[in-house]
Amino acid sequence: MLTLTPSRVRLGWVAENKAEAIRLVGQVMVEAGFISPAYVDSMLEREQVSATLLGPGIAIPHGLPEARDLVLQTGVVVVQFPAGVAWSQDGHARLVVGIATRSDEHLQVLAHLTDVLGDEARVEALSSTRDIALVVEALNVPGTEPVPPAAPVPDGPSLQVRSPSPDGLHARPATVLVEVVRRFRADVTVHHEGRQASARSLLSLLRLGARGGSTLTLTAAGDDADAVLLALRDAFDAGLGEATSTPSPRTAVVLDYEGAWVAGLSASPGIAAGPVWAFQRQRLEVEERADDAAREHLLLDAALAGAATELRQLHEGFLLKVGARRAAIFKAHLELLDDPELRSETHGLIDTGLSAGEAWRRVFESRAEALAAMEAPVLAARAADLRDVGLRVLRPLARAQEAAPLLPDHPVVLLAEDLAPSDTARLDPARVLGLCTAGGGTTSHTAIIARSLDLPAVVAVGPAVLALRNGQHCILDGDAGVLVVEPSEGDRAKAARQRERLRQRREAEKLERYRPAITLDGQRVEVAANISEAAEAARAVEAGGEGVGLMRTEFLFLRRDEPPGEEEQLHAYRAMVRALNGLPLILRTLDIGGDKHAPYLSLPAEENPFLGVRGIRLCFEREDLFRTQLRALLRASKEGPVRIMYPMVATPEELTRARAITESVRREVGAAPVETGIMMEVPSAVMMAEQLARDVSFFSIGTNDLTQYALAMDRRHPALAPRVDGLHPAVLRMVALTVKAARQAGIWVGACGGIAGDPAGAVVLSGLGVTELSVAIPSIPAVKALLRGISMADAEAVARAALACTTATEVRSLVRGLLERKGTNA
Ligand code: PEP
Ligand code: MG
Repeated sequence: MLTLTPSRVRLGWVAENKAEAIRLVGQVMVEAGFISPAYVDSMLEREQVSATLLGPGIAIPHGLPEARDLVLQTGVVVVQFPAGVAWSQDGHARLVVGIATRSDEHLQVLAHLTDVLGDEARVEALSSTRDIALVVEALNVPGTEPVPPAAPVPDGPSLQVRSPSPDGLHARPATVLVEVVRRFRADVTVHHEGRQASARSLLSLLRLGARGGSTLTLTAAGDDADAVLLALRDAFDAGLGEATSTPSPRTAVVLDYEGAWVAGLSASPGIAAGPVWAFQRQRLEVEERADDAAREHLLLDAALAGAATELRQLHEGFLLKVGARRAAIFKAHLELLDDPELRSETHGLIDTGLSAGEAWRRVFESRAEALAAMEAPVLAARAADLRDVGLRVLRPLARAQEAAPLLPDHPVVLLAEDLAPSDTARLDPARVLGLCTAGGGTTSHTAIIARSLDLPAVVAVGPAVLALRNGQHCILDGDAGVLVVEPSEGDRAKAARQRERLRQRREAEKLERYRPAITLDGQRVEVAANISEAAEAARAVEAGGEGVGLMRTEFLFLRRDEPPGEEEQLHAYRAMVRALNGLPLILRTLDIGGDKHAPYLSLPAEENPFLGVRGIRLCFEREDLFRTQLRALLRASKEGPVRIMYPMVATPEELTRARAITESVRREVGAAPVETGIMMEVPSAVMMAEQLARDVSFFSIGTNDLTQYALAMDRRHPALAPRVDGLHPAVLRMVALTVKAARQAGIWVGACGGIAGDPAGAVVLSGLGVTELSVAIPSIPAVKALLRGISMADAEAVARAALACTTATEVRSLVRGLLERKGTNA
């Protein structure tokens, strides 16, 4: 039971506004050891979802359900603001009760507070008293409240439901309940453990103190009684507006961390521990002084307005994708930007002869430094926000220095809204321990690059991570897909032990990396590498790769001001052929578009970039680029086994056209014919696989795109990311169709999307008849070891069963079952 102790009560405080009051209350809660400082942000976000004014004079700020892991200990604090604080349009709060609970213990307090609320004189006395004991006595829940005898539930239409889990019928779901009932004329009564409440009265519902999962009986009387009960059943089924968190189907077992953790999706395995660092793309340099103050004033205003637009767009973008609560950080940034003092001080400095950029930088830096120096962690956290906002304004005022991303001189876990492929490719892996992004998905290019660099990565964590301060310690668990903030000593030890276990397993797999992947019943699956630059070819061989199944050549075209010429490309392709020393090299022709941009091509902006002029379509639009690339590829083919693969082929006509251009270039350069294949990544190509198979030597299934196009879910969409799983039976059926068509035509099928390197994916794809898996270099030894530990007959049986499944989760548990039976590590 929750008990309010005198040390948790503060009387006679003053706050200018609600945010300040909440921060002050949060500070008391932090000092009491009830919450981590980050919970205060969630309390602020909570107010944006709906204000927590319980009734006249009393507010009950608390965090959002998803922040409950930031609650360290259940407890309540009370801060009295005798002068009142404007809380919502419904009124002021004078008694603010900060609540920290992981589940529904606070319902008793709420039920009791509602009793107090009913007594105006008592609220007035408590809001002005100087006697702590009076507050403690009034708000403490009596120890053993007698349970009234159960009142009989009247006859008539009724419905039994469960109070929403885990937090019970607290203010927000109770409000939803009231709103549903108000749409009808019938009177609805909620019965709970002998008490009754009118479903039209929030206070009365709160007084029930119904805990999560407890049984409620709803009765209705009136001409639309049946209709209201039906609507209520739907509302309860939907959790009364409470987020029902669906665990990621791919999330591995979380290591039972004690520290607060935020969950995202595992994008690249491994565990990293260290300080966090917010990714910053550019070094910003500004002129110190400017002659024309009037112009600088205008520049400042334009930069401020631009930053506000960006923040509003970010807010709207994240709002659609992850909901109001998680998008609220951008609103908070907008508020910081709106600070009239910041603006007037900067304009004042411009009048002394400073440039707009220099003036702005001085003002926001000095404010941020002052905040950072404050003891209260909540205020210190605001410093990071202020710097973030400050840099956003500074960018258009500065001479941007295009440079490698700014990193400190020690290794860090990098945090970012999202990373473009060119950002990720520019990172110095020696200074990055891992990547954590607010957005993105498991098949985004951030994930692909992280896997190839062997960096643990967690994506789609939501914007809350952007509020972390540089230097805060964390554990990034890429296997479980979580970021643990300020881990305990115990957490660090756990993470270190797990890292050591993984290291030993990898060591053992590495020793066997040159052994082919031959299953227990003698079937061979080739394991090749996905690479994106020439130097990786040698690494692929070193890691046990039996060739390169996918060279993403577009990476040679990114991060530069003009396309690489024929000689430069020839040099790169030749270097790969030589490093592979006779092993096959599949060079995929340019796949620009989608999320990969080469600004120098000045391509028109796309409304739907993944459905636009991308891959082979772009090569037809820019045949000059295509021909130059083909010349280089075909010239390199004179030195070793090069295969050409076209991306994004959707129709047989496209293949015919690509082959015709290739053939004409081949004649020009006098090369021998090479094997050509296509990526199978567009559903229409799968449906036309029989026709396509007649004209190619192989198919390579791009499960990253095939999944996004088959399920109609953007592969980078953070809210959809948990469901964009290549093991979805819909995708697997497309794989099966592809294999069938290929077998009929006598050609082979590989797979080079992310699930080829995922243990469950490797088993199912092999079982479906895919004979080459092309994976990130660090995954090669593990995939080979895995396949050596199972029989193809088993893989085929699992694959058959997978095709009959309804969800990716079912498919994953089928494979887990097989691997557990075989005692194979995965
Ligand atoms: C794929 O789509 O699965 C693939 C391998 O190509 P990319 O990820 O480069 O689009
Ligand atoms: Mg693709």
